[in-house]
Amino acid sequence: MKRIAIIGGGTAGVAAAYELASSRRHHGGEIKVTLFEASSRLGGIVETIREGGFVIEGGPDGWVTEKPWARELAVELGLEDELLPSSDEGRRTYVLVDGVLKPVPDGMRMMVPTDLAALDATTLFSDTARAAFHDEVNRAEELKAAAPDHDESVAAFVERHFGNEVLVKIGAPLLSGVLGGDVSKLSVRAVMAPFVAMEREHGSLIEALRAKVGSGKKSSIFTSLRSGLGTLIDRMVAAIPPTWVRLGTKVTALERDKSGWQISFSVSHGPTETEHFDTVLLATPVHVASELLTPLDAEIKPLMPEEASSAVVVGFGFEDGKQITLPPGFGFLVPPGSAENTLLMACTFMHQKYAGRIPKGGCLLRAFFGGHAAERLMRCGNDEIAAVARLELARILGPLPEPRVTVVRRLPLSLPQYAVGHLERMAELERRIDTIGNLVLLGNGYRGVGLPDLIRDSRNAARALTTQTVQ
Ligand SMILES: Cc1cc2nc3c(=O)[nH]c(=O)nc-3n(C[C@H](O)[C@H](O)[C@H](O)COP(=O)(O)OP(=O)(O)OC[C@H]3O[C@@H](n4cnc5c(N)ncnc54)[C@H](O)[C@@H]3O)c2cc1C
Repeated sequence: MKRIAIIGGGTAGVAAAYELASSRRHHGGEIKVTLFEASSRLGGIVETIREGGFVIEGGPDGWVTEKPWARELAVELGLEDELLPSSDEGRRTYVLVDGVLKPVPDGMRMMVPTDLAALDATTLFSDTARAAFHDEVNRAEELKAAAPDHDESVAAFVERHFGNEVLVKIGAPLLSGVLGGDVSKLSVRAVMAPFVAMEREHGSLIEALRAKVGSGKKSSIFTSLRSGLGTLIDRMVAAIPPTWVRLGTKVTALERDKSGWQISFSVSHGPTETEHFDTVLLATPVHVASELLTPLDAEIKPLMPEEASSAVVVGFGFEDGKQITLPPGFGFLVPPGSAENTLLMACTFMHQKYAGRIPKGGCLLRAFFGGHAAERLMRCGNDEIAAVARLELARILGPLPEPRVTVVRRLPLSLPQYAVGHLERMAELERRIDTIGNLVLLGNGYRGVGLPDLIRDSRNAARALTTQTVQ
């Protein structure tokens, strides 16, 4: 009987446990699994709060449709009818510039336009930035020749193509919201790999994207679930034997011996206990994984993402949406360090991004704070955080009525930063982990932060284990 420990019950850990449970049913492998989760619930960052007819996400609100692995899992779990495409007919994002919400032109893929006419009609960019976009197409050969054969920062990459204004107004707010990062540190090869490949092939990103967009079929850019992403976790959990799950159980140390692993843990801050396992799937946030592994190999820590950004999310459900004037679209971004002097990083108009998130006539806003602002806010009580969020939103959107529902979530060190050289460090990390043996690193610190990436990785790792077990 092979004993497998999964440490951390976020999406990554739960998906691994789910896959082990299903593979065991299909292949009959002899395994005993324990899923250690420090908190009192499974799902980690993923959490859906349903109250007063509002469906409010405490963490992620959907996944990128282009990546198939979350959808495949949802269908397998019988959630096909629950799949909810984002309302792309009204898709529009704004950037806060000089106190005004300016729309991102139609046809932008991150910071790359596919429609230069739409770009010319925008007030978001200055004449200089618009000219830089047009010129990028003419510089295709030069850009192709200048493509470096090593990793570089997102900032260097974007500036080479479009200049600093585009980086500041779109590149930085888009990427720091999703990846918690400082664009001058983020690795372009790790977080924008398709764009790096386009540069190598076409030089001009605009040309490359136009060719691609023209030939592809259109689908909604994001997908969620009608009852919220928490349902994905709940359905997986329902398929995991309850005896596998240990909530409120924090792993405090890992030791390797000849026959496997000694795992030390404590239940509800009680005395330390120890159990033996053959294999460990380590699915905690990076800073915890790094602490647990350092006594085994001190060279591991410098290979892992060194920094992670924190987030604070505040959802407001308003019963009478007519009292709030919103522009059409999904929400707005605030460029980091902008002159607006707001702590906000972004706000999503949730009921305009996805259908069915509100009771009739309602309005659901979600404020997002990141980086230093999130770390400062995190120390305040919920009421104070909510008051700051409401005030900051009102400064931009106009007066807001009393919300019917308020949800505050603190997500410390939840967005690991993939810094320049990330892919090389991951290759070396993988090598060292293999040397230790019977250990797999899962979660958002290594091969992608999005839910589809985590699900793909965790399921693959679990399948590989059960295949070994039945052979
Ligand atoms: C605000 C925000 C919005 C996001 N939006 C999106 C989005 O829209 N779409 C998308 O695809 N992705 C999004 N992401 C990214 C995605 O949500 C995360 O990458 C993903 O949820 C992380 O899952 P995980 O399992 O790696 O980690 P977590 O969810 O952090 O789970 C780790 C678990 O380990 C447990 N743990 C920690 N220490 C121990 C220990 N010592 N012993 C036992 N257990 C321990 C924790 O309690 C936790 O439950 C977003 C992230 C954030 C922060």
